Amino acid sequence: MSSGVSEFELIDRYFRCLGHDRDDVKLGVGDDCAIINVPTGKQLCLSIDTMVEGVHFPRNCQPETIAYRALGAALSDLAAMGAEPSHFSLALSIPSNDEGWLAEFAKGLSSLANKHRLALVGGDTTRGPLTVSIQVHGYVDKGKALTRSSAQAGDILAVTGSLGGAGGGLALLTAESPSSSERRLLECYERPSPRLVEARLLGSVAHACIDISDGLLADAAHIAESSGCKLVIEQESLPISDDLLEVFPDSALRLAISAGDDYELLFSLSAHEWGILKASDDLDIFTKIGYVEEGEGIKLLRNGQEVNFKKKGYQHFD
Ligand code: ADP
Ligand code: MG
Repeated sequence: MSSGVSEFELIDRYFRCLGHDRDDVKLGVGDDCAIINVPTGKQLCLSIDTMVEGVHFPRNCQPETIAYRALGAALSDLAAMGAEPSHFSLALSIPSNDEGWLAEFAKGLSSLANKHRLALVGGDTTRGPLTVSIQVHGYVDKGKALTRSSAQAGDILAVTGSLGGAGGGLALLTAESPSSSERRLLECYERPSPRLVEARLLGSVAHACIDISDGLLADAAHIAESSGCKLVIEQESLPISDDLLEVFPDSALRLAISAGDDYELLFSLSAHEWGILKASDDLDIFTKIGYVEEGEGIKLLRNGQEVNFKKKGYQHFD
């Protein structure tokens, strides 16, 4: 950053003590590196995500929303691995030292970080076009991480929550005086809530797992490719919220299948484990959407008939 003094003041004021005060942080913000004591028997999972103004969030987006989306998306990658979040670092490029902006941004980060007992342990601050990179760290029991490559023929395929809501919210960003359903869709986009609690339940039962950041079909294709099997998705089983059906009756299905940013989990598991998981799913968080068979790629079924979506691509599916 060009003005040295204000860079250090700024880091001190907004980022030095942000998030949860954790015992495993030997050294946090302030030195050349952070030092973390990794608990015995655990492995460290790392993931980084970058969001650029005008690309991943609109210009003049609320700073709290930017913080929520950036940290939420990064945490969702930890959820997809069944990892428990521990720390994060923040590389922030800002066009000016706008303290009002920084205070709101730090507030958004703090609230999500505290919720998940996450400590900010370091980062970098530069002057430039608004860009937020967040690297998250999390622990998983040795050998227990959920990967994309472990789906097996015969598995049930399921998702958390409902699909397409964030895609609906994105389409509503410029809506004037949104209705209550529209506001809830906007919330899906602006305040993604990573499925960390659910991931803890899946840790011991799921085979493959991924978070849906690019859209159901695109992310399902990653599991199919990594696992070397075919994922069959039954269109009529897809969980779509009443809000999405009400606000976008004509495109709800397309959004559920191809829109990104929902940060729900897509996972596979044996029929036996599915039965056990569902028996205690009082809030109806988990929905079976299909199954895994031998082969490759994705098959989409509508009332048992294969839908040929490939010619038009995911984005033009109807
Ligand atoms: P260096 O020159 O050694 O990279 P910096 O001057 O960039 O150090 O940063 C000083 C300290 O402040 C480091 O501990 C760094 O991790 C931390 N830091 C810088 N920017 C941020 C930020 N945006 N969020 C959290 N910590 C930060
Ligand atoms: Mg630096």
